[in-house]
Amino acid sequence: MKKKVSKIGVLCSGGDSPGMNACIRAVVRTSLYYGLEVYGITRGYSGMVDDDITKMESRSVANIIQRGGTILKTARCKEFFSYEGREKAYKNLKKRGIDGLVVIGGDGSFRGAQTFSNEFDIPCIGLPGTIDKDIAGTDFTIGFDTAVNTAVEAIDKIRDTADAHDRLFIIEVMGRDAGYIALHSGIATGAENILIPERKTDVEDIIRSLEEKEKRKKLVNLIVVAEGDQFGGEELTKLIKERMPLLETRLCILGHIQRGGSPTCFDRLITSRMGYSAVECLIEGRHNVFVGIVNNRMHYTPLNEAVKKKQRIGEEWIRIVKILAT
Ligand code: ADP
Repeated sequence: MKKKVSKIGVLCSGGDSPGMNACIRAVVRTSLYYGLEVYGITRGYSGMVDDDITKMESRSVANIIQRGGTILKTARCKEFFSYEGREKAYKNLKKRGIDGLVVIGGDGSFRGAQTFSNEFDIPCIGLPGTIDKDIAGTDFTIGFDTAVNTAVEAIDKIRDTADAHDRLFIIEVMGRDAGYIALHSGIATGAENILIPERKTDVEDIIRSLEEKEKRKKLVNLIVVAEGDQFGGEELTKLIKERMPLLETRLCILGHIQRGGSPTCFDRLITSRMGYSAVECLIEGRHNVFVGIVNNRMHYTPLNEAVKKKQRIGEEWIRIVKILAT
């Protein structure tokens, strides 16, 4: 027998990503449409443990679809790693009759949701909230498109100043384990080189290519490097400055601007779809999965199979970068 759900809790957990608000809005409005009560849980699992839970109405999510960040706030919660913490959280849900949970977060948050559901029989649905696009089982994650577009806008501006001064700019973008932001933003801005954690970085090859371009008087140079690359922005800049002291080399770390800002139209669309679909999953009894989109169709992956994508970025992408940058 499928467990019937009547009261849904929604929370954001782990790192924030633009589009989380649009997602909360979709969960709240879809729940209300189906006659379910819906509760906003503040600061991720911490709000569950500390009983920071508020009933939401349609107007609670008015005027947020275009806003970055998350009205529910997000957090990492140490207590939720322990059984005692999770039991406390369960009691707080139980006293309100909350019998279904939507967790917007990354693979760590999904692991927490799976453990919690196994222990206390509360069905959980995950929604992939991460700018890194590093979760297997979805072509897109919440906030990735916005983060890439923010990076592209910033890199375009850096290119102007690089061009004006004939400088080499090394731009570090986010991506501790995955190079998707670097790859996409680097290709879209015509970077000469893109360094990602999925590939070994060959510094000698970079130096050779810079020297060769210097000979040809091709002076504007942008290198986009993911923060999780084996060297990272700072070390790479140091190495290039040592080896090519006459080249004016500057480092720019884009940092947290990539997490903020108004979500793109694309992110608003996928999050609206995912939020709606999460509530339908709970109603239909498709429990303990995370909702993704694959080939433009909703795709459901068991929470316990959701892992960080350790996908190799194909050689073809790297070849495209090289060919287009010559
Ligand atoms: P993300 O969801 O972005 O990957 P984290 O890995 O930091 O972020 O996880 C977010 C939160 O999810 C943690 O602070 C913790 O509260 C919860 N969590 C993660 N892994 C587990 C786990 N194995 N058991 C219980 N809770 C977990």
